[in-house]
Amino acid sequence: MQTAEQTTNDTVQKAWKKRPLIISGPCSAETEEQVLATAQRLAATGKVDMLRAGIWKPRTKPGMFEGIGAKGLPWLQQAKKLTGLPTTVEVATGKQVEDALTFDVDVLWVGARTTVNPFSVQEVADALRGVNVPVLIKNPINPDLELWAGAVERIARSGIKDIGLIHRGFSSYGNTEYRNAPMWHLAIEMKLKHPDMPIINDPSHICGRRDILQDVMQRAVDLDYDGLMIESHIDPDNAWSDAKQQITPERLKEMLEMIIWRKEDVNSAEYHAALEKLRQQINHLDDELMQILSQRMKIAEKIGQYKKENNITILQTNRWNEIIEKALTKGEKIGLSKEFITKYFDAVHMESINHQKKVLDA
Ligand code: PEP
Ligand code: MN
Repeated sequence: MQTAEQTTNDTVQKAWKKRPLIISGPCSAETEEQVLATAQRLAATGKVDMLRAGIWKPRTKPGMFEGIGAKGLPWLQQAKKLTGLPTTVEVATGKQVEDALTFDVDVLWVGARTTVNPFSVQEVADALRGVNVPVLIKNPINPDLELWAGAVERIARSGIKDIGLIHRGFSSYGNTEYRNAPMWHLAIEMKLKHPDMPIINDPSHICGRRDILQDVMQRAVDLDYDGLMIESHIDPDNAWSDAKQQITPERLKEMLEMIIWRKEDVNSAEYHAALEKLRQQINHLDDELMQILSQRMKIAEKIGQYKKENNITILQTNRWNEIIEKALTKGEKIGLSKEFITKYFDAVHMESINHQKKVLDA
């Protein structure tokens, strides 16, 4: 016979493995009524797998609502009882881990402001020793993958087996379209480094506003994320934190229904054959490009030799500006973006300088 604890573990494991894993709930637990009503309305959508709520809120400035504290934990326990939804809460200290686990929170998450601080992550990791609970780790607020990976390692070393990543974007100075720039390439790099870990997108904190949520959600789905964490509130405009980005449970349902879910793979033989052929063409072109680049560097070395004999500097700005100008005009005509051409030529230029420098230093 199964014990009550095993039944809970099964439910949590089932949710943890569900794809896409949809986590939703308020930025902050505010009142018992708000938590219970949000949970029930989310459950009624039939589209949510896990309930989130901030209990302790790391706020930029003092005097803002800093979370209801441990007093809100029994509300989440009650919400789980009413809806069957497993719960997840942000933890930043050893005491918070202890309190959350005492009140049966099923999944813990490490917030962006904690991931940046190895002391705090280590404190959380130490409190997790010997505990069997899945942990989600948000990216640090600054675009530093090593810091994110370091937090993952600390939590893993404490013995936690189920670790997932949350991509919530990176903060930047000044006003931009996003509250936190997504920098998708960084999240993708992190996912490639940890292929065994689910990666969840948090469009709410990336966008900071409702009108671009759908686009970011779709983008995450297109990039094959394993799930979404989206903030929801029964009365978003009057939320005690992050009011601009929260949506009602019913709106969440509509938005999830609008997403076009793409499969990473289909099983048709023709599809695979066609794709394989195109991929081979790409491989072939990539090989050719490498050969050409290598030839280019050999010529650069010859130029280096010539410069050495005549005592000329490596960097000749005029010549380089000329190359870039030409490339930008040409690139535009053949469908290559300005941004790409600039990045590509900068990289080629740097490599070329390095090759020439080797000749000069020899
Ligand atoms: C949150 O999820 O409400 C939160 C505080 O997020 P982050 O750590 O991403 O800022
Ligand atoms: Mn929030």
